Amino acid sequence: MPKKNRNGRRRDLLAAEVALAAPEPGGDGDLKAAACYPNSYRVGMASLGYQLVWGAFAGHPAFRAERFFANYKGKPPKGFVDDPRGLEYGTPLAEVDVVAFSVYYEPDYVRVYGMLAGGGVRPWAAERGEYDPFVILGGPAVTANPEPLAPFADAVVLGDAEESLPAVLDVFSECWGAPRKETLRRLAAIPGVYVPTLYRVLYGAPGSRPAVVPEEGAPAEVKASHLMDLTPYRGGSWLATPYGEFGRLLLLEPIRGCGRACSFCQTGVVSSPPRTRALSSLWPAVDEAEANVGKVGLVGAALADYGYVVALAEGIVERGMLLSVSSLALAAPNTPAVLRALGASGQRSVALAPEAATAEMRARLGKPLAPGRLAECLGVAAEAGLNKIKLYYIVGGPGEAEGDVAAVGDELAGLKRRFKNLTFEARVNPLVPKPGTAFASAPLITRPEYRVRLRTIKARARGVDVIGGSWREAKVQADLGRGDRPVARWIARVAERRSQR
Ligand code: SF4
Repeated sequence: MPKKNRNGRRRDLLAAEVALAAPEPGGDGDLKAAACYPNSYRVGMASLGYQLVWGAFAGHPAFRAERFFANYKGKPPKGFVDDPRGLEYGTPLAEVDVVAFSVYYEPDYVRVYGMLAGGGVRPWAAERGEYDPFVILGGPAVTANPEPLAPFADAVVLGDAEESLPAVLDVFSECWGAPRKETLRRLAAIPGVYVPTLYRVLYGAPGSRPAVVPEEGAPAEVKASHLMDLTPYRGGSWLATPYGEFGRLLLLEPIRGCGRACSFCQTGVVSSPPRTRALSSLWPAVDEAEANVGKVGLVGAALADYGYVVALAEGIVERGMLLSVSSLALAAPNTPAVLRALGASGQRSVALAPEAATAEMRARLGKPLAPGRLAECLGVAAEAGLNKIKLYYIVGGPGEAEGDVAAVGDELAGLKRRFKNLTFEARVNPLVPKPGTAFASAPLITRPEYRVRLRTIKARARGVDVIGGSWREAKVQADLGRGDRPVARWIARVAERRSQR
């Protein structure tokens, strides 16, 4: 795409953004920082975590922060990102001092490499010299397993970044001009910060646990930061844009993590127990949104388990604002009341995740549901005017029988017969074995096995649109999510190969 068009697109995006609040004290320092999201502007701006990382840079007096995305329009490139430029000033990535990536999904790993290599930054940390930018990574995917991307990172911020990221930025500002190795050692001393080049990973027999050997002075073990009270930290997005995936809204996080420990879910492992914000601390952000955008999207894996979720949802509705939610656990006692609030706000669609249709399979997945609970919640949704229902299911879990798969199709057909006024869309995905979960070492079902399951469900789910997720993407998630350091070479090869096409 010619540069003139790219510049024009960036200007349009900036002009359409609404600042809900400004990070304090508002950095305009000498060090240039890139807050990178390895996917499109549309996806990145819909990530509250990414916006909070940008806010940490933008509020630090030593930095001038700029946002970088893999692309600003349409689908992101699959391999190299050609000359990535900052949204605000058009800065080339190679001219930045600190490059920070927020990494949420394994399929984005190739683009982390692609943005570095395409932007003229040496992707391999071991090859970067004194005058090269520092590259730091953070986000749930690298917290669960940093190793596949570790060779590209000078530092990885594990877990909650509210305290560790500002400490990282302080080290950069205090150590600027000092030998790189000294800066890395200072970073490694921050709790929750992993500096991969200070650790050698020694691989033994296939299947055995690799030995991790720290260099002298590096901590023997780096534990992810886990803040128990989020109240002191901002829980709302800084910026709203009509070009984000969820439109122009305030993203608000009353609760982080989940304590339900479903057997397949990483959130229940890496972000447990759930942590909350005081209700009173959330209203100022809602007030900002009321004045500016009129819509609030509540974010959180265990949203319905937040003790004040009903008061929060009803308070937003009373202000005349549109409400949306990221997810609602069907088993949570608060879910019917939140569904009523969603409907009352004018919302017409909601997503729920029964995951399986038989009691046995739900038990295996660690997500039991009382008999009739799904129908009860759908009845509430229908009464509240929520008439577009998205239902999520997983197939291919350990111990799954043919009857468990057929039951998904039968359940959908039955729901359609019972709730004639509701439009159902079912999303079916293969179970992705994730590190740390009870299914970490389970195999991913094969593509033919997945196809058979999808066919069975589609044939039985009369009247319901059944959409199967990509098996290939599930494979990438499984392989990269459970991968080790050598996987980085595969990531680099894929990015290089895709760029040569
Ligand atoms: S309820 Fe949802 S977020 Fe919580 S552990 Fe289960 S699947 Fe994960």
